[in-house]
Amino acid sequence: MVHRGDFKLRNLVNAIVLISVLTTLGASILISYYNEKKSLTRTTFELNKAYADKIADTVDGLFSNLKQGLAVTGEYLQKDLKRPDMFEQLELFRLNHTSLNTISLVDRSGIITNTSPYNSDVIGKKIMPDVEKLFIQQRPIISEPFYTNANYLSVAIIQPLFNEYGEFIGALGGTIRLHETNMFNVVLGDKLKGEDGSYFFVVSSEGNLIYHPDPARIGDQVGENPAVSELLQGRSGMRRLINTKGVDMLASYTYMKESRWGIVAQTPMKVVLADAHHLVRQVLLYVIPIVLVFMFAIYILIRKMSEPLLRLANYAAKLSTNNLEQEEPPRIHSWMYEANKLHRAFSLAVTHLRTEFDDLSHISQTDPLTGVYNRRTMELFMQNLISQQNPFAILVLDIDHFKKVNDTYGHVVGDQVLQLLAKSLQNSLGKSGAIFRYGGEEFVILLPNTSLKTAMRRAETARRAMEEMRSPSGKPITVSIGVASFPDTTKDVDELIAYADKALYRAKSMGRNRVESA
Ligand code: GH3
Ligand code: MG
Ligand code: MG
Repeated sequence: MVHRGDFKLRNLVNAIVLISVLTTLGASILISYYNEKKSLTRTTFELNKAYADKIADTVDGLFSNLKQGLAVTGEYLQKDLKRPDMFEQLELFRLNHTSLNTISLVDRSGIITNTSPYNSDVIGKKIMPDVEKLFIQQRPIISEPFYTNANYLSVAIIQPLFNEYGEFIGALGGTIRLHETNMFNVVLGDKLKGEDGSYFFVVSSEGNLIYHPDPARIGDQVGENPAVSELLQGRSGMRRLINTKGVDMLASYTYMKESRWGIVAQTPMKVVLADAHHLVRQVLLYVIPIVLVFMFAIYILIRKMSEPLLRLANYAAKLSTNNLEQEEPPRIHSWMYEANKLHRAFSLAVTHLRTEFDDLSHISQTDPLTGVYNRRTMELFMQNLISQQNPFAILVLDIDHFKKVNDTYGHVVGDQVLQLLAKSLQNSLGKSGAIFRYGGEEFVILLPNTSLKTAMRRAETARRAMEEMRSPSGKPITVSIGVASFPDTTKDVDELIAYADKALYRAKSMGRNRVESA
C-alpha cells in the first residue's frame, strides 16, 4: 500500500525521466528557435542589402551616364547655340538616352529656346522656379524631384554651357519623369514589392518618397524613419526599426552618390518570426511522436525493473501480518542482478526463519522430558474445543506411589518411568486423543467427540496397558484415572477438570490402579 507522501520508486524514476526529457526538449527547441531567428534575420538583411546595392548601382550608373553624355554634348553644342540643326541634335541625344523624357536648351536668362520632343507650349517660356534655383548655380547638378506644370513628378539634370571666354551662356536641361516610361522606371518602378511582404522604396536627398509600392505615398516626408535619417547623412547600412507606420522592419539601405537618393529594402519582422515559428511547429511535429515512443519505452523498462522489487516488497509486507507458512516468496525472473540477489537472500531468510519458527513453536508447545504437549498447550486445546461446543472427554491421570519409585530407585529412574508412561499412553490411545503433561507426574488426555462411556473404556485400556508394561524399576507401575465429559458430566466446561480431579481422588481412595468417572 502506498501512503500519501510516499513515492513508488517507479513513479519517481518516471517523473525524473519525464522532467529531463521535457527540459532537454524545451531547451533545444528554444535554442533552435533563436538560432533560426538569428540566421533568418541575417539572411533577410543580406538579401535586402544585396538588392538595395544592386539597384543603387544601376541608378547611379544611369545618372552618371546621363551626366557624362550631357557634358560631352554640352561641350560640343556650346560652340554655337544658334546652329540650324539644334533641334535634331537635341532629338538625337534624347533618343540615345532612354532614361530621359525631355531635353531642353535654355538661354542665360532662363528662357527655354528649344526642346525635344518639340513642345510649343514651353518654347519661349521661363524655366520653373524650382529648376531656376539650380540653373543659376552654373554647375552640373541633379535636382530634387518636383512636379512639372503638366504634373509629372520629375527630376531635372542640368549641364551649364559657357562660351569661349568662359562666360555663362545657358544650359542643357534634361528631365526624367519618374513614373513615366524610361529606364529609371524600368529599374525602380517594377517589383517594388516582394512576395513575402518585403518591399523597397526610394527617398530623395530631402527625405521625400519618390518610389513606393503605395502610389498614394509618393511625396510623403519620411525623414523620421531611422534608415532614411541615416541615408540623409549619406550613410548605408542595415538595421531593425519601427517604420513611420509603426511596423517592426528589418531594413537594409543604400545611399546613391550621384543623385543623393537613398533606397530602403525591408522585410517585416513578422515574416521572419512566422518562419521561425513554422520551424518550431515542424520540429515539434517530428519530435513529439519520438518523445512519446521513448517515454513509453522508458515506462515499460522501469516497470520491468521495479516489478520484481515491488513483488518482493509486497511479500515482505504480508509476512509481517500473516503466518510464515502461508506463502512461498514470489518467483522472480529478472535480468536485474540486484533483484535476483535480493530474491535469493529473501528465500534463504524465509527458509531459515521457518525452521527457527517451527523449532520454537515445538519447544514452546511440548514437554522436554516426555515429548507430549505441555500444560500451556492443553489450555489452548481446551479453549479450542470449548469454542466449538463439540462433545469431548477429559482423563486426569496420576502415577500411584510415585514418590516411592523416586525414593527407592532415584530420580533418574523416576524420569524414565515418566517417559515410559508417555510412550504407553501414545501407543494405547493412538490418534483418538491428545496427551498433555499437566504437572509433575500428572497427565491429562483430551478425547474430542467422545462420550463419557467411550472415554471410560479408553481410560481402562490405557490403565491396563501401563500396568502390563515392563518398567525400569522392575516392578509394575500403575496409574489412577479420573474421567469427566462435556456435556455428559457437566455443561459448565470451566469445572470439567475439577470434576475429573474429584474422580481421580476417588480412584486413589478406592485403592488406586483404577478408573473412576465423575
Ligand atoms: P499417590 O499414589 O497418592 O499419588 O502417591 P505419590 O507418591 O505418587 O504422591 P504424589 O502424587 O503426591 O507424589 C508426587 C511425587 O512425584 C513427588 C515428586 O517427587 C515426584 N515428581 C514430580 N515430578 C517429578 C519428575 O519430574 N521426576 C521425578 N523423578 N519425580 C517427580
Ligand atoms: Mg501426584
Ligand atoms: Mg502419584
